[in-house]
Amino acid sequence: MKITNVRAVPVRIPFDGEPYPGLSYTTYQPDRTGRLSPKRPSRVLDYVIVYIDTDEGITGVGEAQADIGFFGNTVEQVFYAVRDYLGPNLIGLDPFDREYIASALNWRGNSCSRAGIDLALLDLMGKATGRPVGALIGGVHHARLPVSKEIGGGSPDDMAAYCVEHIEQYNIKAFKAKIGGNPEMDAIRLRAMREAVGPEVSLRADANQGYRTAKDAIRFCRLCEKYDVNLELLEQPVAYQNIQGMALIRRSVDVLIEADEGCYTLQDAMILIRNEAVDVLNIKIGKSGGITNAKKIAAVAEAAGLVTVVGTALGLGPERAAKLHLASSTPTMLPHVEFSELTLHGALLIDADERIFSAPVDEDGCLPVPTGPGLGVTLDDARIATHAIMID
Ligand SMILES: [Mg+2]
Repeated sequence: MKITNVRAVPVRIPFDGEPYPGLSYTTYQPDRTGRLSPKRPSRVLDYVIVYIDTDEGITGVGEAQADIGFFGNTVEQVFYAVRDYLGPNLIGLDPFDREYIASALNWRGNSCSRAGIDLALLDLMGKATGRPVGALIGGVHHARLPVSKEIGGGSPDDMAAYCVEHIEQYNIKAFKAKIGGNPEMDAIRLRAMREAVGPEVSLRADANQGYRTAKDAIRFCRLCEKYDVNLELLEQPVAYQNIQGMALIRRSVDVLIEADEGCYTLQDAMILIRNEAVDVLNIKIGKSGGITNAKKIAAVAEAAGLVTVVGTALGLGPERAAKLHLASSTPTMLPHVEFSELTLHGALLIDADERIFSAPVDEDGCLPVPTGPGLGVTLDDARIATHAIMID
């Protein structure tokens, strides 16, 4: 089988509501210094859908996210990278040579563009063999995975109420609060959440690099200990370049410390490990450049005695499916997969597939791992045509 064409279709999706309830999409929250994604000045999310055609008539479909605020790329950059630079290098190659292709395209940056290609290759391999992606990358250890939901911020009472609402409505048993700014207020927020949800629910916190100093983050963790929050982990408390600060926080507190913005590549993971800077590595398909590299990051984490977690990235459909395939096939990952995109917007999936991903999740707060060939989802061409945008 040979690749005959790589196509890139940019789409722009409007969405209702807030990606992180409680924190306005466009307005600045005075006591939160951490940066939130997405950053467009209007309520839209951009993606590039990647199609890889073959001489056997099978097409793989992937998704490349475009988010200058988090991933550092615009939809225009992703589109040009896939159409004009990465894609042409694939013509004539066997799509089953996925590891070789990932290596050949492993240029600096463009992680989302490379992820879109990697997902399309895996989708293609699955369709060609009649197997779900999970079966090709390690086997499906879990038929469904528990969901963790993010909370944008707001008053302690609002954040606590949001948790209770989602437990009652969807039976979700894990939440991650967006914090980062005022350690005292942040700890009070987490205390209110813990008091509202009881002892069994997992509570995580993500500062998105929001604490100005490592000592602010240490203070937050110690207050959480004092308040019996039982915080499962604290994600990216300080700037991603501040590896020594991360190491200091990790040494100073019992809470597990996680890198997100600081962990894109396999080499990033190794630097964090060598500096004993983290307990947990956050993996996002758009950061690592696809599942192929994500699996390698999980492997080095395993060797170093660290755990990994699959983070939220506001995926469209193929990316959401890919997260489930990745987590279900990697036994060393923490169980809860972060899915803020659950209630974010209507996807471009066909209705049957969309139902897999739309809230409410099942009665136990879990999402099923898609079982169809490839990524196991099908994009609706009519919806894509509606949301496609013109670039050059
Ligand atoms: Mg994060």
